[in-house]
Amino acid sequence: MPWCPLWLQDPQPPSTRGYTKNLPMQRMNLADFELTAVSDGLYRLDGGAFFGIIPKSMWSKKVQADENNLVPVGLNSILVRTGKQTILIETGIGNKLSEKMQRIYGQPEKLLENLSAAGISPEEIDIVINSHLHFDHCGWNTLRQGGEVVATFPRATYYAPEGEWLHGHEQFERDAISYISENYDPLVESGQMKLLRGDQEIVPGVSVKVFSGHTETMQAIILQSGGKTACYISDLIPTTAHLDLTWGMAFDLFPVQTIESKKKYYAQAIPEKWLTMFTHDPQVPWCYVEKDERGKMALRKV
Ligand SMILES: [Zn+2]
Repeated sequence: MPWCPLWLQDPQPPSTRGYTKNLPMQRMNLADFELTAVSDGLYRLDGGAFFGIIPKSMWSKKVQADENNLVPVGLNSILVRTGKQTILIETGIGNKLSEKMQRIYGQPEKLLENLSAAGISPEEIDIVINSHLHFDHCGWNTLRQGGEVVATFPRATYYAPEGEWLHGHEQFERDAISYISENYDPLVESGQMKLLRGDQEIVPGVSVKVFSGHTETMQAIILQSGGKTACYISDLIPTTAHLDLTWGMAFDLFPVQTIESKKKYYAQAIPEKWLTMFTHDPQVPWCYVEKDERGKMALRKV
């Protein structure tokens, strides 16, 4: 049955809801894997940029902007306990933004306290996986300690796409602001971060698959246990409001490819009943996606 998440029905403008709110911690099992949604808090983006070519007259029916046209955006990480490893997918914005970037985006800094509320200390994380290296996806990879930048998760092996690391170093006019080298370079230099070339398995049941569009080498993280599959699809489908093929973000470097990648994703995820996990939805960390009777994408609550 089609289901409409709460944030699309909330009559209050986001500015009165406050940006300090948390995604409520949610937990579910995927066969033998335990999944916990932990948030770094909410930040804010321009609603026009968030919905790309979609006119405000349409997107404002789904999400209400504040007086500055800003909309609340989630920073959802997923903690996976496989029984053998404790894995963290994505690490939010972190606490190293410049004052100027903090003024533009906000810096909620909630991830470590939410991990602690979920019963996890940074030392317990074995593996960290970044879908790509934009600052809102890998910010807590590192933190400043004294004058040094160190790994937030000291025992973890980190994984990210090599193409993202190379692209970030180019510092292109279009997206240089999205790449903050302190989030990854110290880890690459120390050997703690492994750079991935294309689709591969990280550990049994946990693999990555490239879906280009948002960037060329952004990867989804796919979890498989006991015949069930969940996919952290990252910025290919950032929220439950971005399900339709043409509802992409203006930040996408290759928007036509985003549409093709979404088609490829749905062609497998819908018939195989994958759980889709959303990186930027302020309220819904995961949901099933279906095609309704008109052929439109619809949500089915877990
Ligand atoms: Zn993002």
